[in-house]
Order: sequence, then structure tokens, then C-alpha cells
Amino acid sequence: MIKSIRTADTKNKRVLVRVDFNVPIENGKVADDTRIMATLPTIRYLIDDNAKVILVTHLGRPGGKKVAELKLDPVADFLSEILGKKVLKSDESVGPTVKKAIDEMNFGDVILLENIRFHKEEENNDPEFAKQLADLADTYIVDSFGTSHRKHASTYGVSKHIPAYAGFLMEKEVLTLTELMKNTPRPLTLIVGGAKIDTKIGVIKNFLNKADYFLIGGGLANTFLAAQGYNMGKSLFEPEKIELAREIMMAAEMFRDKFILPEDAIVSDKAEKNTKILDLPVTDIEGDMMVLDLGVKSREKFAEVIAMSKTIIWNGPMGLYEKEPFEKGTLYIAQAVSEATQAKTIIGGGDTIDAIKNFKIRLNKFTHVSTGGGAMLEFLEGSPLPGVEIIMG
Ligand code: ADP
Ligand code: MG
Repeated sequence: MIKSIRTADTKNKRVLVRVDFNVPIENGKVADDTRIMATLPTIRYLIDDNAKVILVTHLGRPGGKKVAELKLDPVADFLSEILGKKVLKSDESVGPTVKKAIDEMNFGDVILLENIRFHKEEENNDPEFAKQLADLADTYIVDSFGTSHRKHASTYGVSKHIPAYAGFLMEKEVLTLTELMKNTPRPLTLIVGGAKIDTKIGVIKNFLNKADYFLIGGGLANTFLAAQGYNMGKSLFEPEKIELAREIMMAAEMFRDKFILPEDAIVSDKAEKNTKILDLPVTDIEGDMMVLDLGVKSREKFAEVIAMSKTIIWNGPMGLYEKEPFEKGTLYIAQAVSEATQAKTIIGGGDTIDAIKNFKIRLNKFTHVSTGGGAMLEFLEGSPLPGVEIIMG
């Protein structure tokens, strides 16, 4: 059973809410608001309940240091506008100044703490740091499904000190994904791409006995191609994961035609807009070349598999979709998945959703759109997620 926010003691209380406001910021403004909008039901509920709403999130990967561009002021401004009330912004995440600000704020008001990853203690799940965070509040609401696979102070450690409950977004994600996984018609196809190779590659391994087809693209595919011995030139890949990639491919040997890597790729020597490109077989990559998108043959092959699948799980863009002309592979796959009306389609991930929105493909064309990328994959694969564990009772 999920411990729901509805059963939490929040009225006239100080409530710490872990949200996932890891949103793209461009020119000092929030460029995509999907994740913020998704948590509004929880925030509004707490305002109506006359709680002191204390929001905590990370933004980007500052690596335990203050990074000016990753401060949360643009997010506080955006949230103030949406809520139609001033959201306070604290320049610190914990400590006496934060405590004082919370003491002085009115019930029914909202405060946003500074980027929690400015403290290295966050990702280390430092117990003392978690205690300091917990000391700011009476109740802890988790509404950041996208970070559930992380055992950090703000996503997990706080629960050791004050009672944890699921916010509305969290509850909906866990219920919907659980329901969807009860019935997964075959063939089940897993499409994975993107850049966070270190976290995603392990998930693929765990899916080996669950999925029928694997379509691997994006930066992730480069690591597998490198593991097959191909020269990847200057492409994004993870040398330390080559051994693991090799292991996975050995295990996948059994179903040869079902573990599908790109056979061709869009390459360039510059990861820049409107630069010169070539579509080459993966055997011909060398020198300064970077693999930046799925080649045309690979797109067609992937689409064929998509068209005959009955369940499709997709996380991670197929290329550097932010920059033309490298968006085309991701667009092709997004269209194929959105047109796969014969299948249950579950997609997730900040960039994956961002790409689909840029392409103007309607999100209601998919069975479920998750705010989680890595978290969604790990949940679907059946791993216990620390952030979910703490809201189960
Ligand atoms: P998600 O947020 O959907 O989980 P990730 O964060 O893992 O996805 O990856 C998205 C990022 O991966 C995007 O910024 C995209 O440009 C980048 N990417 C995908 N393929 C490549 C590639 N071949 N080379 C460089 N970057 C890539
Ligand atoms: Mg991302």
C-alpha cells in the first residue's frame, strides 16, 4: 500500500516536499515546465491545507559545489507566476538562515530551497545532512518519481527522521506503472538511448529475460558498438562500461536478432547546428567523427520492430535531438511509437519528453508518459527503488 499524502499530517504543519524540478533553463528562464506542472496538485493541496510548503529539488549536476547557472531563482519565479503567489527563495538549502525563514513564513506559503546538489552530502546520503533537512519540517512528502532510483539525502535519508508519504504525482506514477506491468502483451520491446550510459546500461542487463526486442540508440549504442570492436572516433561513449556491454551482448547472443544495434549512423566532426553530415555504416567511423544520430537504415529497422510490438517501453533520445539536423532519428522513432496503436506504449525521461514536445507529437498518443527516465526503467524492470520503498507501508 502506498502511504498517500491524503493520510499525512499536513494541516498547519511544516511540510518538506521533494520535487523534481530538474528542468532545462535557457537564458535565465524555465524552458520546459512539464516537471513543474506535474507537481502542482501536491503543492496546491498543501497550500489549501495551510501548510508551510518547503520545496527541495536538484538541478543539473553541480557535483557538490555552488554553480551560479544552476541556482533555482528562475524556477522560483516561474512557480510564483503559475501559483499566482510569491514563492520565497532561499539561497541556502539547510542551516540557521533557512530555519529562520521557515519560522517567519506564513502558513499556506511556499519556499524553495537552493539546489540541494550544491552540497556533496546530498548524493552521499550523509546522515547528518539528512537530519538537518528533516529538522526543517514535521512531515516529508515525496513527489519526485524521476529521482526514486537515487538513494540521496533528500530522496531517501530524510525518511529516517520524519514520516514519509507519496505526493499525488508519485502515487499516480507508481499505481499506473504497476498496473501496466501486470499485463504486458508480447512482443515486448525496450528502446533505450540517451546519454546517461552509466545508469542505463545496468537496466538493460536486468531486462534481458523480460524483453523480446532491444533497440539501442543514442550515446548508449556507441558503448555497445565500441564493445564490438568498432572505432567510435570522438563519439560519446563510456570506456569503463565496455566490459559490461560485452557481457550483456554475450548474454543476448541467445536471441541474436533481438538485440538490435544501429547498423549505420549520422556522423559529423562538429556537434553543431546545420553542420555537414554523413550517413555511414558503423564499420566506417574513424578519426574526428562523432556519431550524433541514428542512420536511415537503422531508423527503418527500428520502426519495423516497433510496428510488430505489443508492448513498447522507451527512454532516451536516439541522438543529439536538440540540434538540427541530429533530431531526425529521434523524430522518426517518436512517430513510429506514437503510431503503434497495436501496442501499449510507455515512454519516459526528461529529454525524451522534451523531444516529443518539440516535435509537436501529442502526449496522449502514448499509453503512459512517465516523468521518470532511469527511475521508470528500473521500476519496470522490478528493482526496489529507495524512493518508492520509503512511501510504502
Ligand atoms: P532522458 O532525459 O530522456 O532520460 P538522457 O538524459 O539519458 O535522456 O539523454 C538525453 C541526452 O542525450 C540529450 O541531451 C541528447 O542530446 C544526448 N544524446 C543522445 N544521443 C547522443 C549522441 N549520439 N551523442 C551525444 N549526445 C547524445
Ligand atoms: Mg535527461
